[in-house]
Order: sequence, then C-alpha cells, then structure tokens
Amino acid sequence: MVTITIQSLTKRFGGSPVLHGIDLKIEGGELFFLLGPSGCGKTTLLRHVAGFYQPDAGRIFFDDVEVSRVPPHRRDTGMMFQSYALWPHMTVEQNVAFGLEERKRPKKEIKERVDDVLGLVQLEGMGDRRIQQLSGGQQQRVALARALVIQPKVLLLDEPLSNLDAKLRLEMRSEIRRIVKECGLTGIYVTHDREEALSMGDRLAIMESGNLIQVGTPMDVYRNPVNRMVAEFMGETNLIEGTLLRDTSRAGLFDVETPAGILRGRTFDPSFIPIRGQPVVLSIRPEALSFREVPDSPNRLSGKITDTSYLGATVQYRLQAAGNTLKLCELNPEQVFQPSDRESRLMVATKDVIILRK
Ligand code: ATP
Repeated sequence: MVTITIQSLTKRFGGSPVLHGIDLKIEGGELFFLLGPSGCGKTTLLRHVAGFYQPDAGRIFFDDVEVSRVPPHRRDTGMMFQSYALWPHMTVEQNVAFGLEERKRPKKEIKERVDDVLGLVQLEGMGDRRIQQLSGGQQQRVALARALVIQPKVLLLDEPLSNLDAKLRLEMRSEIRRIVKECGLTGIYVTHDREEALSMGDRLAIMESGNLIQVGTPMDVYRNPVNRMVAEFMGETNLIEGTLLRDTSRAGLFDVETPAGILRGRTFDPSFIPIRGQPVVLSIRPEALSFREVPDSPNRLSGKITDTSYLGATVQYRLQAAGNTLKLCELNPEQVFQPSDRESRLMVATKDVIILRK
C-alpha cells in the first residue's frame, strides 16, 4: 500500500497563489478526504497527486519515490470525476478496457481484467450494454471500473457522487469504501459534502484559501474544531460570543462570560491559549444542548422555545436565549415541548463547549 507524502507544495495560477506550502502525509490504505469551500484548492491539490499539474515548489512522494514530475500515466493512479467522462456510443466493456488497450495489454488479459473489475463494481454480465442504456448509478460504477481496471495503487476521486440522487449516493458511499479497503488502495476523495467525508473517511483535511486548516479523524474534527470556519463547515453549531473570564483550576478549562450567562468550556487548538478579557466565540453543537441535567457541569442557560419540529427520531428546537438564537436537537424524544413564553433551562457539558478565537 502506497503512502503519499506531500511536502511544502506551492502552486500559483497566473500569479495568484492557489496552494500555499501544503504539508500532508496520507498513510497507505487510508481513505482520505479533502473538504472545504468552493475554490479553496481541493481539486488543484488532487490534480498534483494525479500528475496533471506540476508544483511550482515542493515535492510529492509515493512511498519514498519522488513523483512530482512523473507524468500521470506512469503514476499508478486511477481517477474518477464528477462528470463520468464515459464514451456514450461505446459499450461498457469498451469503456472499461480503454486504459488497458492504451497500455497495449494482450487481448486475453484485457478480457479477464475487465470481467473481474465489472464483478468488483457489481456490473457482471453488463459488458455489452451501451452507456446510454444505463442508469446514472450504473454509469458511475462503469467510471469506477475504468479507474480500477489498470490496477492502480492510488485512487483519486473528485466529487464522484455529486450527480447521483440521494439514495444512490448512499449506496455508492459504502461501495467505494469497500473497494478501497478490499483492493488495498490509498484513496484521496474531494468533496463539498461533509456527510460523505464523515461517513466514509479514515481521516480528512479541511482546506481554506489554499491552506490546510485542520487534519484529523472525522470525529476529531467534528468534536474539536480549531476555528469557527471548521466548526461551521463540519455541521450545524451554535456560536455564542463572549469574553474570557478566567482559567479554572482544572487544566484546559476556561470560564467565558456571555449574554446568556457564564459558560465553562475548553480549547482544542494548542496554539490558542486565551487570556483574560479576550473576546472569544463558543461553539456548541445542537445535540450537545439538553433540557436534562448534565452531570459534572456548571453550565446552565435559559431560553424560550420559539419553534419546534418533531421528526420522529429527533426533535429540533429553536430557542431565544439573551439575544442568541440557539438550536437544540434531541434524539429519541419521549416528550415534545411546544413554543412558549416560559423560560426553559438548558444544560451542556464543559467538554462540548469549544472556545474559539473570535
Ligand atoms: P470546487 O469545490 O469549487 O471544485 P476547489 O476547492 O476544488 O473548488 P480548485 O478547483 O482547486 O478549487 O481551484 C482553486 C483556485 O484556483 C480557484 O480560485 C480557481 O479559480 C483557480 N484555478 C483552478 N484551476 C485553474 C487553472 N487551470 N487556471 C487558473 N486558475 C485556476
């Protein structure tokens, strides 16, 4: 399995910097996600790994072999794009075989490998069909088969599921992960869709303006965002502004004065040691707020319910709390509270109050 190491990768397009000294190591066999707002440089970074772009500065290694200037077809990478880029007038088999014919493999080997890979993506027996005769989901499987038939060591995926409907997307998520793991591939997957990254990724990186802002497991990054952008990008959150009051006696915990009361929370970013009087912002996920008692936490807020949505598995509330609109999400609700002028008491654990730079 191939480990990909990217060192100080810098790229400019027409004088404008697009990647600023990216350092990243992706372990062999990992399915790694690049996530971030439009234009942050995800595709550009992926295309450097594929070999379509060469860096202005910096280096890329596959294991300990430098590939920065190796052309794409010599890199052992398979690539799958958002637009399937299939030839509509050709059959499934012809589309999939293309990469092997280009490499001038013997006919018998081509036939065997195409059959194998069609089995892998669950399209066995469909080799003779024309692309126009396939559903969107099947076409996407052909695109995946085409990327895999050359037996790459690295699979690069650029928003591969964004043209599919929600049900097919879910199905293909687990398919792609299964195939990456079964074939021992190292995968890099670009997406806007945080659920894709959270549900499929071993680790992910959040990018902004050509920089890597945070790298970690999905749970790390969701629970411990290093800044406001990451907190908001990874999921719904309540942001409450306040001022740092003091360091508490328990290491790493701080009290913050907010219009909704004093809240105790923690920081995650090791480079951020807040000082007394400093303006900060707190991030609290809706599912971390609760109407129930939370053990070992001094955090109490009060708010009036202004909106209630019962969704069966969850109930989602909107509340007004001292000028802040808060969202609260309860799982498996046994009781549903309706909007009212009465103040409700809310609680949150200190570990779920993340203190961020303002
Ligand atoms: P999206 O999520 O919208 O696909 P992205 O994060 O993948 O965005 P990139 O496609 O990598 O972003 O683009 C990063 C920046 O580089 C953008 O400002 C884009 O306009 C610019 N850019 C990308 N490719 C080129 C190119 N070939 N020539 C000039 N500028 C480019």
